[in-house]
Amino acid sequence: MSKISLAPDKMFDNIYEITPALLKADGITTVIFDVDNTIAPYSVAHPTKEMSEYLFSLRDNGINVAFASNNDGQRVEKFNRTLGFFTISKAKKPSRRAVRKIMRKFGASKEQTLVIGDQLFTDCLCAHRAGVRAYIVEPIDRKDEGWFVKVKRIFEKPHIRHFKRRKA
Ligand SMILES: [Mg+2]
Repeated sequence: MSKISLAPDKMFDNIYEITPALLKADGITTVIFDVDNTIAPYSVAHPTKEMSEYLFSLRDNGINVAFASNNDGQRVEKFNRTLGFFTISKAKKPSRRAVRKIMRKFGASKEQTLVIGDQLFTDCLCAHRAGVRAYIVEPIDRKDEGWFVKVKRIFEKPHIRHFKRRKA
């Protein structure tokens, strides 16, 4: 079995640090966003002005934007209503199915595709299983996280440390 890395390719405090210029410099044409705790907290049903403007700024710079969420269709469709991006709900990440589907949809290569999320065991793993990069952001609101996510956070720690060591 080949070894799939759980260490993120880059880490950021929030999505807004991942600018269109940075994505272009990294050769990215297609960005697959996680929604919950990456763009918005679980409790926020609709995008704020800041979120919408950021996502539209990517689109306006020629970057394909898509959502892949493990959450249900109702949550994702409601969030996407005013945005209108290509969306996959119940994505079953770390399955790479959603990533592959979005790459096919936009005709993007592995090198051109990026997953942005907040969880190593879902977002980072689905990216690396599909052979694409993963940029990980700090989860927006940890207090909203259920027990299962909290347990996963404990197991994320050594991989985060590995990323930080590698960078140093
Ligand atoms: Mg998330």
